Amino acid sequence: MTQTNGKPKIAFYWAASCGGCEITITELGMQLAVVGDLVDIVFWPCVMDFKYSDVEAMKDKEIDVCFFNGAIRNSENEHLAKLLRNKSKIMVAFGACAHEGGIPGLANYYDPESILKWVYDDCPSLDDSRGTRPCASTNVAEGEITLPIFYENVKTLSHTVDVEYTIPGCPPVVDQVESVINTLLEGNLPAPGAVIGVDEKTNCDVCTRQKGLTGVRIKEFKRPHEIEADPDICFLAQGLICCGPATRAGCGLPCIEGNMPCRGCYGPPVGVEDQGAKLLSALAAIVDVETPDDVQRVIDSIVDPVGTYYRFSLSDSILSELKYKQRARD
Ligand code: SF4
Ligand code: SF4
Ligand code: SF4
Repeated sequence: MTQTNGKPKIAFYWAASCGGCEITITELGMQLAVVGDLVDIVFWPCVMDFKYSDVEAMKDKEIDVCFFNGAIRNSENEHLAKLLRNKSKIMVAFGACAHEGGIPGLANYYDPESILKWVYDDCPSLDDSRGTRPCASTNVAEGEITLPIFYENVKTLSHTVDVEYTIPGCPPVVDQVESVINTLLEGNLPAPGAVIGVDEKTNCDVCTRQKGLTGVRIKEFKRPHEIEADPDICFLAQGLICCGPATRAGCGLPCIEGNMPCRGCYGPPVGVEDQGAKLLSALAAIVDVETPDDVQRVIDSIVDPVGTYYRFSLSDSILSELKYKQRARD
């Protein structure tokens, strides 16, 4: 990596994020101290007391690499994405939320008012609704106070600014993050646009469970708590939905080794535009249906279909676009 003044300058930022991606960075442990010796961390508001004005005062492209986690849910997220883009030579979409909208992106199934209504009026943990809604601007005796504007849709980082690299995962696994940071520090930069730290196979290609999919016919799907899964046999063959056929390899299969099905957090493999559609087609190939009642029985056995097919990728899906267009028409 080239830099003009001594150590490379690194920034970490979280937008619409749960904080898990930041925890992954801290899980580098002592390796973080080594990285800290090699780089100059110039912005990391989750951990150190940096202000936005510190970034605004930097020269354009002064930051060598910005690791940006979280989706773009509101105007503050977008402002920081654009500001950090201007100040950074390399922008990395870090984690599933920046990559594909992640869990926050599931909100794209609903219109903004129904989300606010649930949060401020209908949520069972509320005593009573006061009809409150966040206001972008409020005048008080001391002056105007502002809040970020809640957007119609959750966007990915690459919907918002140009992104050089993507590190997928919810969160990215620690070993992979360490190896990617070392790769970047050594200057071994892949071609822009690359998803780094992964390979071109699917999780099914690298999974060692007995697949036996040929001839497997599933009459209904189960949830993981409903059966005791055999740790050696493919989850799909046991009637448990596993996103392996529609997920890029590279995580090391921590969930599958823990006897839990893959949920798809590494995103779609090369050549797949829509991860949920790919998973749906893989499931359709193994169900045992002959009549409309059989079809309904299988559909009914999938609890939360959108959250199953698109747990991490709804923001970047054909379905999200269709929902947005439908809302615009209504
Ligand atoms: S990718 Fe996962 S761990 Fe990272 S911010 Fe999003 S929800 Fe949290
Ligand atoms: S569906 Fe899941 S359990 Fe089955 S082979 Fe693929 S990754 Fe492994
Ligand atoms: S097994 Fe699936 S859900 Fe688990 S870390 Fe890997 S890609 Fe993510």
